[in-house]
Amino acid sequence: MTASALREFIYAQTKLLVLTGAGCSTASGIPDYRDADGEWKRGRPIMLQDFLADEHSRKRYWARGLIGWRRMRTAQPNDAHRALATLEAQDRVVQLVTQNVDGLHQAAGSRNVIDLHGRVDVVRCLTCERRLPREQVQVALVERNPGFAALDAVEAPDGDAALDGVDFTAFEVPACEACGGVLKPDVVFFGERVPPDRVQRAFAAVDEADAMLVVGSSLMVYSGYRFARAMADAGKPIAALNVGRTRADDLLALKVTDRCADALAFVLDEQPGALRMDS
Ligand SMILES: [Zn+2]
Repeated sequence: MTASALREFIYAQTKLLVLTGAGCSTASGIPDYRDADGEWKRGRPIMLQDFLADEHSRKRYWARGLIGWRRMRTAQPNDAHRALATLEAQDRVVQLVTQNVDGLHQAAGSRNVIDLHGRVDVVRCLTCERRLPREQVQVALVERNPGFAALDAVEAPDGDAALDGVDFTAFEVPACEACGGVLKPDVVFFGERVPPDRVQRAFAAVDEADAMLVVGSSLMVYSGYRFARAMADAGKPIAALNVGRTRADDLLALKVTDRCADALAFVLDEQPGALRMDS
């Protein structure tokens, strides 16, 4: 019943604001942070303050990232990404805002995307603002740390990986080749502010949209929740599809608890010639 209600909700709109989170990418092999109750699965991710203040934290972060990136860089879009790209091609989506940093919406063909929390495939120098591909940093990490490169670990979100009981003291973190500054993935860490221009563009989309579709996000983080709040305050309807509860459950016109790709399957089923992979 909710599946057909979701279909009706989506096809009634021509100006959807889509907000996506980790649940959209789990079927692509990228694990999410939170369980169905919105609680942390593996402990809280690294805080910006720790990364900046403590060299050992940076060693630990990059050592885990060295291993986690292998999974991240090979991840492919799934049918949820493809369904949302199809809705955009049908002129039903004015803006897609994602909390994910994996770039899979763009890989699936979505064009109008705000990467609210940045991109994990880009690294930034905190001193000179130079940006470089994550892959280039990977090469430098492997060269300096062949022993760590041979380790294996459980993948965690954002290209991170859990490496319990490993000593990171000897790990060598490459610095910016231009100025020697500290390199950081160009993603918004916990404890870090989302760049204001991204927030403004997303709020502009709130004004333009006439409804919101939340896909695979618990909205536990304020950076995403505020857009749902603003839509609700403007009296615009919100539908959410998320396996677990969301922080915005009391704001929703419609809630679907199926997995993202399953709940959106009708979009591809009804689109002749849609590029679809069997899963
Ligand atoms: Zn630099």
